[in-house]
Amino acid sequence: MTSRKRILIVGGGIAGLTLAVALRRRDVAVDVIEIAPRWDILGVGISLTGPTLRALKSVGLIDRCVEAAFGFDRIVFADAGGRQVGTLNMPRLCGPDYPATVAIGRPALHEVLIQTATELGASIRLGTTVNSLRQNADGVEAELSDGVRESHDFVVGCDGIHSAVRELAFDQVPEAAFTGLAVWRATMPRPKEIDCMRMFYGPKTKAGVNPLSRDEMFLFLVQPIRDDRRPLPDAMHTVLREQLADFGGDVMDYVREHVTDPRKVDYRPMNSFLLPPPWHRGRIVVIGDAAHTTTPHLATGAGIAIEDAVVLAELLATDLPASELLDRFMARRFERCRLVVETAVKLGQMEKDTRIPVQAHFDLMTATFRKLAEPI
Ligand SMILES: Cc1cc2nc3c(=O)[nH]c(=O)nc-3n(C[C@H](O)[C@H](O)[C@H](O)COP(=O)(O)OP(=O)(O)OC[C@H]3O[C@@H](n4cnc5c(N)ncnc54)[C@H](O)[C@@H]3O)c2cc1C
Repeated sequence: MTSRKRILIVGGGIAGLTLAVALRRRDVAVDVIEIAPRWDILGVGISLTGPTLRALKSVGLIDRCVEAAFGFDRIVFADAGGRQVGTLNMPRLCGPDYPATVAIGRPALHEVLIQTATELGASIRLGTTVNSLRQNADGVEAELSDGVRESHDFVVGCDGIHSAVRELAFDQVPEAAFTGLAVWRATMPRPKEIDCMRMFYGPKTKAGVNPLSRDEMFLFLVQPIRDDRRPLPDAMHTVLREQLADFGGDVMDYVREHVTDPRKVDYRPMNSFLLPPPWHRGRIVVIGDAAHTTTPHLATGAGIAIEDAVVLAELLATDLPASELLDRFMARRFERCRLVVETAVKLGQMEKDTRIPVQAHFDLMTATFRKLAEPI
């Protein structure tokens, strides 16, 4: 189906660029504005689970992503000493030719998205944001930071947790909730034995490793914290190593030895946010982290951002009236995103209570992944 619509996408992150690709595949005109003056993507890894790969497949992005990633079919659960407690076998939702899940470097994922969106004819302007939005019956006039005024049929805020579009279009927005947890991540060489995700449940923290490419893997560690103060940049590796002291076994011994460079360690306190429905006002809608920010417990924050983009593009390419189109979008997205955000918070709370057995985490994750495998 072709459309004469023109869409303004604010934010060139995972949601915004996927939306640009998905809309261009349907011949819809797209302008992406990104506030950052250059692409400078944090060099850590991200997991893309089966439902996320399925969404990427539907807009022709899966092959490039899988090529740039490391694929695997299972998550192994272990105690702090490295003794295996259970294995979660993930279904291959995209068919036998694709892995059940992958891990990919964020720069590699962005490269795939930027390249594909550009090849398909999306206009992308860096160093640009939106100063004001004015709606009329047929569209939205945006005043951009470079002084340009443009009219579009719809404006989509893909501008992350601190969304400026949400600020401009919505009256009252609840604050993101601080979860009392922080995530550490570090990239290091991959020994060949690390060929799937492995999680280790320690007395105070949870850690895990994830293969990222043929040569690299990344460590993640979730730590309960009281406030969002950050360790000093030069001390990042030593503070992370202290957190790893509770873990034993070959894998975690290897990891500890390889946390040596503070510049390769990332630390961030985690927030959780779910915008009450609807996520639209008139012809302005927010998706991705601007509508729902989840902790990484299900490795699905980017996944639901990508799914939002796929579903919204499908609807924007129709001739449905604006209000019906956006109501249909909410009907397909809200409960699913709520499941991810709320389950992730629950898993985080469970991690703070060391009396809860690893089996309970395993069971909740298994049940949630089963639910998320349902079609969108
Ligand atoms: C520690 C951690 C680990 C994670 N691991 C995973 C994982 O393994 N799997 C997974 O699926 N998800 C994971 N996530 C979640 C995932 O990173 C996010 O859900 C995802 O990045 C959301 O994409 P987005 O495009 O909505 O927002 P963002 O990635 O925040 O992108 C927003 C974009 O908008 C731009 N922008 C901001 N303000 C403006 C403005 N005013 N004007 C124009 N542009 C603007 C930004 O510069 C950015 O490019 C993790 C998150 C964290 C914190």
